[in-house]
Amino acid sequence: MEHRIALFDSKPYDREAFERANISYGFDLSYFEPRLSLETVRLAEGFPVVCLFVRDIVDASLAYQLASLGVQLVALRSNGYNHIDLMAAKGRFQVVRVPKYSPYAVAEYTIALLLCINRKLDQVYWRTKQNNFSLVGLQGFDMHGKTAGVVGSGLIGSIVVRLLAAFGMRVLVYDRFPREQLVVETGCQYTDFDTLCRESDVITLHCPLVPETERLIDKEAISKMKDGVYIVNTSRGGLIDSCALIDGLKERKIGAAALDVYEEEEKFFYEDLSSSFIDDDVLARLMTFPNVFISAHQAFFTREAIDQIAETTMKNIYEFFEKKPLTNEVSTQE
Ligand code: NAD
Repeated sequence: MEHRIALFDSKPYDREAFERANISYGFDLSYFEPRLSLETVRLAEGFPVVCLFVRDIVDASLAYQLASLGVQLVALRSNGYNHIDLMAAKGRFQVVRVPKYSPYAVAEYTIALLLCINRKLDQVYWRTKQNNFSLVGLQGFDMHGKTAGVVGSGLIGSIVVRLLAAFGMRVLVYDRFPREQLVVETGCQYTDFDTLCRESDVITLHCPLVPETERLIDKEAISKMKDGVYIVNTSRGGLIDSCALIDGLKERKIGAAALDVYEEEEKFFYEDLSSSFIDDDVLARLMTFPNVFISAHQAFFTREAIDQIAETTMKNIYEFFEKKPLTNEVSTQE
């Protein structure tokens, strides 16, 4: 089998990292700028392996097309795989992912977002650029002594717990699988989701997007939260009902939100749309709030993380070409 790999939605920084990682493998890499879609899928012809990122959504029809073009492996450059229809993939091609790449990148960025919305650093930046040195409207609160709610204490969430505990915060955690060691190390408390909502001053999301977590933060959950709560989402947009979030912001129930992810982000994130407009009224409305900070799915974006993604992806593909067991296979039985 020819060792040909098609990378979709590839950016200059992907190319640099993959070229470095490929020195040890010598695979034939083709970099395609467009995302995988019904319009671009023909580019995959002749490639046994396609390498995809979070905006390359493989629904059932794309899965059938990929298989009919001879694709045997979908190598995800991401941890999350909610953008792949695994039922449709089953029996057609295998799927591998990067389960771990610098969880510090996402955890540290989460804290940056929290500090940004609390101390209103985005507003400070623009004010001082315009010689406006007034402090009116910029008051934040001490994180020390407040309660943080962390949903999901896996690789990323457990680092976030440690960082929040280091601020002197009381940390409540909701996860299906409590980690006793984390409790011992940080003094955090595992609790149910309702208690986390009721008692937290800030809530940060670090669980995967699966059917049980879809729109976890909805109207009902928000109604239970403290007035003025801060919500940070660096996990997946679908964890939050964006319309309920907007209502919560309008009612001043939610004090501020920082979103690195958005339900419909594929249409916008990673593109320069500065000479266009946002034809998504929900995203456009969210962007009008001065107390909402939005970034374009960049929490992972550090040098270390990109290098680890490239290295693990190449190792995943090497295992496939060598017919070895796939260490990081996503089970298509799910
Ligand atoms: P992980 O698998 O190590 O941890 C996820 C945790 O969520 C686990 O402890 C799991 O038990 C828990 N969980 C699963 N289902 C749950 C449920 N129904 N209720 C409560 N908890 C549940 O994953 P991770 O590496 O920590 O990543 C977390 C998420 O971060 C990923 O799913 C991904 O969506 C997101 N992510 C975002 C970026 C970014 O750049 N913004 C980068 C990487 C990962």
